[in-house]
Amino acid sequence: MILKSKSALVTGSTSGIGLAIARALAAEGANVTINGFGKAEDIEAERKKIEADFGVKAAYSAADMTKPEEIADMVAEAEATFGSVDVLVNNAGVQFVSPVEDFPVEKWNQIIAINLSSAFHGMRAAVPGMKKRGWGRIISTASAHSLVASPFKSAYVAAKHGIAGLTKTIALETATNGITVNCISPGYVWTPLVENQIPDTMKARGMTREQVMNDVLLASQPTKEFVTVDEVAAIAVFLCSDAAKQITGANLSVDGGWTAA
Ligand code: NAD
Repeated sequence: MILKSKSALVTGSTSGIGLAIARALAAEGANVTINGFGKAEDIEAERKKIEADFGVKAAYSAADMTKPEEIADMVAEAEATFGSVDVLVNNAGVQFVSPVEDFPVEKWNQIIAINLSSAFHGMRAAVPGMKKRGWGRIISTASAHSLVASPFKSAYVAAKHGIAGLTKTIALETATNGITVNCISPGYVWTPLVENQIPDTMKARGMTREQVMNDVLLASQPTKEFVTVDEVAAIAVFLCSDAAKQITGANLSVDGGWTAA
């Protein structure tokens, strides 16, 4: 158990990749704060399940990742509850698919806020405590879209490229403080985020559901398989280990070979 007596905060962890990462960090002994939207009773059930499955403490923050002051308060609350935020995972993210000329301005602003700016606000709030303790792990869920683009995803691709740059910058700023800052770039992972963009992609490209799955999503992934949330979570756990302490400022692809092409 590599995270015993440590505390982790995972944004956007009521579902998908974030929930898998929160559970994997709890399995390593970390107390965790989960965050995100959803039905109150579902979130409470997930929170309790983490405590029951792994014998750690789990808290929930309803902070909205579009609101800088709520992000700062979430970090402060997690520090007050568990004594520290040793691992910060910037994972919350949303998608919107549209040609640029029709892309709603409010969708652009929302995606940049949740997928990029929230990571800045979280790091800004969590780094001082990590520096004081001389240990920290910051991991952001970027995307293959931090390295390459796809049409109709202007805000998402811009935000994810931004995460890669932000990761490198904060890695350099904290390199002598026992803190590592990295991002993980999955290809297509089978989660609600991917499933929900199928109808819009069908509309934007005039395709059937099967065509979108095979000719758009898995077309980019040479292994012809979706990545699993547990495969992404395993990389996050590795990045928290001592073995990974010289890995900082990196962007680790978990994309079935997508960005090798
Ligand atoms: P998901 O939709 O299952 O989960 C997204 C999470 O973010 C949920 O917990 C949701 O409640 C939360 N969230 C959304 N808006 C929020 C807000 N304003 N404030 C707080 N929380 C908010 O999606 P996922 O596929 O698990 O995606 C997680 C991350 O992984 C995202 O950053 C996404 O871009 C990235 N990613 C996903 C894939 C994929 O194929 N699924 C691939 C590469 C990268």
